[in-house]
Amino acid sequence: MANDYLFKVLVIGDCTVGKTSLVQRYANDSFSKNYKSTVGGQERFTSMTRLYYRDAGACIVMFDVTNTTTFRNCLKWKHDLDSKVALVDGSPVPCILLANKCDLSEWAISRSEIDLFSKENHFVGWVETSVKENKNVAQAMRVLVEQLMSKPSLGPTNQNQGDYIQLKEMSKSERHWNSACC
Ligand code: GDP
Ligand code: MG
Repeated sequence: MANDYLFKVLVIGDCTVGKTSLVQRYANDSFSKNYKSTVGGQERFTSMTRLYYRDAGACIVMFDVTNTTTFRNCLKWKHDLDSKVALVDGSPVPCILLANKCDLSEWAISRSEIDLFSKENHFVGWVETSVKENKNVAQAMRVLVEQLMSKPSLGPTNQNQGDYIQLKEMSKSERHWNSACC
């Protein structure tokens, strides 16, 4: 018999990095070029309210690999999150760093920069994704779910080092998800 779990997963990052696309891809397995801008169109960091972050079990911090500003702002997003919310045991909300739009050839940030940034700022790890081409999306979510399911009482796991995440191949049946969006 299977148990059902409900977790609140936050998706944060600058405008246009692909947050809405990610949720659509994950929830409906669809992609569109024209989602209406959710916040209002500015390409910058805006801090969120404590209420928005409340009860989060995990977080996705996203940037666009072709846009350096969106990468730099990941630090602000991470600090904003950590200053406003923690898990019940007081530890930081586990965050995965997604280098989105990896289908585009002009990366503005190097893999080593991303790697260093991820390690220095205590991300669970990072991975390049293309929501557009459905690359690594379900796999990245699976890594987060594994974090969520690991017992908080066990403390941070050894994987919690910010490294590049080596993704395993998934079977077809594992690619189906129920999702809740807040
Ligand atoms: P949000 O502002 O963070 O919610 O970003 P959106 O989901 O609205 O996406 C902004 C734009 O980036 C849209 O035109 C998307 O179609 C496009 N986009 C999102 N993900 C990708 C991706 O992986 N690759 C490419 N090439 N474009 C993407
Ligand atoms: Mg949006």
